[in-house]
Amino acid sequence: MLNRSRIAKYLFALMFAVFFSAYGVGSYIAAQEAAPTAPGQSRPGAPAQTQPREGLTGAPNRRPDEGKGPFKTLVIRGVMVIDGSGAPPAGPMDVVVSGNRISAVRSAGMPGVPLRQNRGPQADHEIDGTGMYLMPGFVDPHVHAGGAPKNQDAEYAYKLWLAHGVTTVRGVPIGGNAWSVREKERSAKNEIVAPRIYNYQRPGSGWDQGSVDTQEKATAYVEWATKNGVDGLKLGAERPEIMKALLGSAKEHGLGSTAHLQQSGVAHMNAIKAARLGLGTVTHFYGHFESLLKDHVVQPWPVEMNASDEQWRFGQVARLWDKIHAPGSPEWKAYLEEHLKLGTVFDPTLTIYSAGRHVSAFRNADWHDKYTLPSLMDFYTPSRTAHGSYWFDWTTEDEVAWRNFYQVWFKLVNDYKKMGGRVTTGSDSGFIYQTYGFGYINELEMLQEAGFHPLEVIQAATMNGALTLEEPKGKAPEFGVVRAGMLADMVIVDQNPLHNFKVLYGNGHVKLNDTTGKVERIGGIKYTIKDGIVYDAKQLLADVAAMVEKQKRERATKTTSSR
Ligand SMILES: [Zn+2]
Repeated sequence: MLNRSRIAKYLFALMFAVFFSAYGVGSYIAAQEAAPTAPGQSRPGAPAQTQPREGLTGAPNRRPDEGKGPFKTLVIRGVMVIDGSGAPPAGPMDVVVSGNRISAVRSAGMPGVPLRQNRGPQADHEIDGTGMYLMPGFVDPHVHAGGAPKNQDAEYAYKLWLAHGVTTVRGVPIGGNAWSVREKERSAKNEIVAPRIYNYQRPGSGWDQGSVDTQEKATAYVEWATKNGVDGLKLGAERPEIMKALLGSAKEHGLGSTAHLQQSGVAHMNAIKAARLGLGTVTHFYGHFESLLKDHVVQPWPVEMNASDEQWRFGQVARLWDKIHAPGSPEWKAYLEEHLKLGTVFDPTLTIYSAGRHVSAFRNADWHDKYTLPSLMDFYTPSRTAHGSYWFDWTTEDEVAWRNFYQVWFKLVNDYKKMGGRVTTGSDSGFIYQTYGFGYINELEMLQEAGFHPLEVIQAATMNGALTLEEPKGKAPEFGVVRAGMLADMVIVDQNPLHNFKVLYGNGHVKLNDTTGKVERIGGIKYTIKDGIVYDAKQLLADVAAMVEKQKRERATKTTSSR
């Protein structure tokens, strides 16, 4: 029973703190963080925590056999380069890396003829890139690392992200503040196998002064956050005066901002109102549709609506699709034009709701068996208490509504791109049948479905993410494009990803080999390079598969012994 109530507590923590945060934004995390596990732990300047927090264990130290390098000189020879800026693929190229930086990207010869001889430089490590494609490391601007009961170890999420090419993440949040600061530092020093971490936190997270419910507290929190390793704010649909104070203060201090404008507050704080107050990024779709409502100022909910019931909540979202000014209407255009002028970034996270349009496809995704922890699978399974597991009685009509909703949402995102608006590739994996890493590649596929050219998708996944993370700091990004002088964060795959994003999935792409008549799995990222350290992506996946196997064995033992 004790065990069970502990699990229930974690479920609630996840439910309210990490993901959708429907009510009481920030205050729950604030309460969690303020809980005195050690005296003075959240005082300004207190050392980062080494204790597991919120049921989430930091990654173990990187072993000497994990990742090779950085090298004095690493050369990837004869590779096709997709540089992330939107430029067409070009090759064969030699990409030269000195330590953790790209020092040259230069022609290795002409396509169709043997590579030029004696190209230099002398390398202490070489990768033969013949027939391969190299891209900048991917950026995922919307992540959480999980935690008990679904995945206790952050290592599980980190390795799945890296194995899918993600070398930079924005935690919103990735974990509690002190925990996040520590993991961020360890990752920056490459003491752990993990992407670069940007630490965004909910207002009130980490400090000991309770929830942020006045303008004074909003300003004080941002000042505290600036001194305590926070890179930006993850906001909800805060009350207008609080939102104004938070965003104004964040801008002053060089902190970024991204908002999930949750349904409970969107009536007073929709996406355009938030953007006018200086919001940097709108994540998910919340707030867009409500800004475009045609005949109402609040969503015309059915009178039986209960926002605390998740099937109602997630089912009814989709019913917004035909309640708004139609795509292409003057109101639609004016809406997007104003965002463009304000410089709003759209981080749609199309992937995280995609099971809603076809739940059996994602419930039975072919990576679950090998790469989804049984505990995470449990979390996805219909439940009144686990968050985002709202398939109590999910009907054809619910799926049809979501399919219709997606068509309008796709147009919104694609129209914004077409007029020059910036779109990024957040995934929010770890919920709703979207496993870390795999969910990210699904986002790339879905942007293509929305109308993006594959090169536009790569640009969104690399350069756009980097710009979004560095802009609030007033800095030019040091990653996100393959160019001399940039940090050596790169992805190498032995297939053309522009031809088919499915080759980026960890378990590859199923293809019939017409020469042998056999069905094969091709692709899967080969190498992920972060800070000049070369990770074998297949090895990272093997580590993840071993974690899954271990948990399955432990469960089997438990079942046997309790019989
Ligand atoms: Zn999220």
